[in-house]
Amino acid sequence: AKVDGKNRWASYDPERNAREIARITLSNAMPAALEREEFYVDYQPIVSLTDGTLVGVEALVRWAHPEFGRLGPDRFIGLAEETGLIVPLGLWVLETSCRQALKWARTPIVSVNLAARQVAEPDLVADVSAIIERVGFPPSALQLELTESAIMGTTGEPLSALRRLADLGVRIAIDDFGTGYSNLAYLRHLPVHALKIAGSFVEGLRVGAADSVDARIVTALVSLAHTLKLDVIAEGVETGEQAELLRHIGADSAQGWLYAKPGPPEDVERWLT
Ligand code: C2E
Ligand code: CA
Ligand code: CA
Repeated sequence: AKVDGKNRWASYDPERNAREIARITLSNAMPAALEREEFYVDYQPIVSLTDGTLVGVEALVRWAHPEFGRLGPDRFIGLAEETGLIVPLGLWVLETSCRQALKWARTPIVSVNLAARQVAEPDLVADVSAIIERVGFPPSALQLELTESAIMGTTGEPLSALRRLADLGVRIAIDDFGTGYSNLAYLRHLPVHALKIAGSFVEGLRVGAADSVDARIVTALVSLAHTLKLDVIAEGVETGEQAELLRHIGADSAQGWLYAKPGPPEDVERWLT
């Protein structure tokens, strides 16, 4: 046992210690991993609930770690936000997925996640427009996903950054809508084009439970979005039942294992030909 800074006895916890070492190891390895292109992007289809066609894809980053194998974003995005590496990593994901999208038979809307840390970065707009120009990507085919906490705190400089991105023709979507804190009066003034309804609400949609709390929440969110003239994308759709209810409620498009798991570019190609 050893004394911690607050003059209390803290016991040594080997498991906690091992986790902490793993975190630091991953965190330290990230810059070199980005240089060596150990990161890669999987794409998940976003499908129209009206006619079943593919309308877009979400770009989801993964890490092919030489020692630990394939790591999901939940293992390293938080760390990258802490160290700031999320800024170059996020731009790498953006450039990689825009380049990829131009190689497909037709270019779907490419939806890329932006971390709060990136939105606060003074160079964001310049960096995004430089990538769009370098790649020759149509801005109207790009959608940037921000969570409520990343977007709602944006006043002053970051808010004007979102406006300038929207002015370029880029679409802005609010990710995991309904799980965070949204100021509705504020939302009205944001340059937002779409809301993504979190899978946690979709999970509770079942036939025979059309009046469940989750069904009512989803109905309210869809109605709110449409009042604000925003597109609605439902996430985490796993069953045909959920898709049918969402279509009935009026959601515009859906994403989830029912249609496809996130996968390599070849998987998307099949949807486009
Ligand atoms: P997210 O943006 O909410 O992405 C959706 C997550 O739900 C993905 O997890 C996806 O694989 C998973 N998913 C898709 N369909 C289903 C389904 O039907 N059922 C269930 N249970 N899950 C489904 P993933 O790929 O592990 O990504 C986790 C999170 O990591 C993302 O959540 C996003 O917040 C973050 N992330 C991923 N890529 C990036 C990135 O390039 N930049 C940033 N900043 N964050 C990223
Ligand atoms: Ca997302
Ligand atoms: Ca989401």
